[in-house]
This record gives sequence, C-alpha cells and structure tokens, in this order.
Amino acid sequence: MSGPFERPTWAEIDLGAFSRNIDAIVRRLPQGSRLIAVLKANGYGHGAIELARKCDRERVAMIAVALVEEAIELRRAGIELPILVLGPASHIDVALDHAITLGVTGPEELAGVCEAALHRDVGIHLKLDSGMGRMGVVESELPRVIEMIRNAPRLHIDGIYTHLANADEPGDSYSAMQLANYERMLQALREAGIDAPLHHVANSAAALRGLVKPGDFARAGIALYTLSPVMCWRTQIVRVKTLPRGAAIGYGTTFHTQRESRIATLPVGYADGYRRAFSNNAEVLVRGKRAPVVGRVSMDLVTIDVTDIDARYGDEVVLLGESISADELAAKANTISYEIFCGVSARVPRRYHET
Ligand SMILES: *Cc1c(COP(=O)(O)O)cnc(C)c1O
Repeated sequence: MSGPFERPTWAEIDLGAFSRNIDAIVRRLPQGSRLIAVLKANGYGHGAIELARKCDRERVAMIAVALVEEAIELRRAGIELPILVLGPASHIDVALDHAITLGVTGPEELAGVCEAALHRDVGIHLKLDSGMGRMGVVESELPRVIEMIRNAPRLHIDGIYTHLANADEPGDSYSAMQLANYERMLQALREAGIDAPLHHVANSAAALRGLVKPGDFARAGIALYTLSPVMCWRTQIVRVKTLPRGAAIGYGTTFHTQRESRIATLPVGYADGYRRAFSNNAEVLVRGKRAPVVGRVSMDLVTIDVTDIDARYGDEVVLLGESISADELAAKANTISYEIFCGVSARVPRRYHET
C-alpha cells in the first residue's frame, strides 16, 4: 500500500465522500441559502487545498479559513472561489491583494480596514458577538462601529455574521437567545443605514438542525468531514511477537499480559496525533476485528494485543475509520472529534482517492 519512500502510516482522504457531504448539506439548506465550506486548520486535518479543489461554484459560495496565511496558501494553489478569513483579520493589504475577504471581529480591526479603505475599496464581513463572548462586536460597541463605517465610504459591508456557542448541545435553548440578540443588533445597524447583502449564523450543528434562515448562508465545517467519514487513518504491523504470561509492555510497564499473548507493534505514536490518552484504552481494527491498545502509546510506536486474531507481520491496521469513529476516539481522550482530526500531524502523509 505504501509508496517507495513513504512510511507505512497514512491517512486516506476520500474526496468522493467529501463531495457527497457537500451535496447532503446543500440539500438541507432552505430556499436561497448557500454553503460556506469551512476549511480552516488544513481542512480539519484532511488537506485544505485538495478539498478546496472539490468545491465548485455551483455548490459552494465561499470557502472560510481562520487565518490570512491559510487563505493565501489556497490562492497560491490556484483556488479562485471567494475566501473568507473568519478572523482575526491581519495583513490587510496583503489579504486584499489576494482577493481575500476579511471577517472583522472588533473595533480595533475595523479601524485597520477603515484605514486601508482610505486608498482602496474594501469589502468585509462584520462579526457580531451575540453571546459567545469571544470574537465579534458587542452591542455597547455598535455606536462607535456605526460611526467608523459611516466615515469610510470605500468600505463595503458585504456580510454580517455571528457564531453560536451551543448549537450542538442537546436541549439547547441558548441559540434562540443568541439569534434574538443578533436580530436586535442587526436592527440597530439598519436603523443607522447599515446592512449587508449577506448574513450567516449557522455552523454545521445549527444548519443540520434547520436554524438557517432562508437566504442566509451557512458555515459548515465538521459535517463536511463526518456526515459520511472522509478520513481513514491506517498503519501496518511492523513487529508481532509472542510473550509469556506476566510480560510487561511499554513505558511505565502499565500493562502485563494475563496469558501467553501475541503482541503487535504499530509504527505510529502521539507525535502523529495518536493520543497518549489512548494508552490501555483505545481499540484498532486488524482483519476486521477489534484489538485493544495495550501499554502506553509512545511517541512513535503503539502496541496492540492480537492474541485472538490471526494477525501477521505486514497486516494493515485501521486506527480511525470504518467502525472506529472520530467520536469514539475523542471520547477516549476526553475531547471532541475536531481535535482528533486536527491532531493528525503533518508527519502522516495524506493519500487522496475518490470513491
Ligand atoms: C469553525 C467555525 C465554523 C464551523 O463550525 P463546525 O462546527 O465545524 O461546522 C463556523 N463558524 C466559525 C466562526 C468557526 O470558527
């Protein structure tokens, strides 16, 4: 499976699944609404450039990333779709030179873009804080922000947006309050003669819950990677040995065999993003069967118990994918699937294919 110079640990990225996920999200949007594909953090670890190439204008209105650097990387790869930087905005003139739309998340940044707007046309998306307390303009700052926008005739508010804190929580009632706050702030801006052709609020969870208003855009990230799983992280057995009952495995000798055991070693570790929290905790798939991780996960190596599986040297192993979901691994590391995906490090080659 591995190429001549590639290590036998790799992440397969199914561009067909990604494309079908785009379709599935777009189908669930209301009339007039469009998708903003969130490809920040290298497409949640899947590879932003390759995924961006699958985003066509018919289905994807915009790509969103977190950093201007990420946006420039996409432009340098020849991506021509509109790109929104969720912010904070930085390198304003460089971003504008690359036709990148800046999300402006506060009055200080707005001052920076207003300055750029003295000598050129500048289109931005303005972020409002409707109750997340992180980024965005808060209600008390609106008068100052209105004043700045009015004094910048070459500044164009192309979009206004906010972000929901609890859209993925069961029984969430906070989103309704945030939406009400957002509408009230929009109203205050409108009364001052400021609006935008475009509005967007929903992340994946909100979009899938039907919280997108007809005509609004939706910013979906995680659903693009998980509605149908896009990443399958694989490795190969590089050592398999029989150890007697009572043998110790790994750093700290945290595992001792309870019987004569077959122990296999995998060339992957926490430096690759296979979390140390998986020590004596996670499972992998060998020949379609589950095998437990035994002993501690090291920087570059993992040991599994294959006593009950007819596993051989060179067998392929699934670390993430097939019946092992990112949510399952995330629960074992007390985190969320996002962090598992983003954690698959640059040392793991991505191999792209299309089913
Ligand atoms: C990351 C991000 C999103 C995407 O969230 P998902 O839960 O992955 O859909 C949307 N909006 C903003 C502002 C974000 O930072």
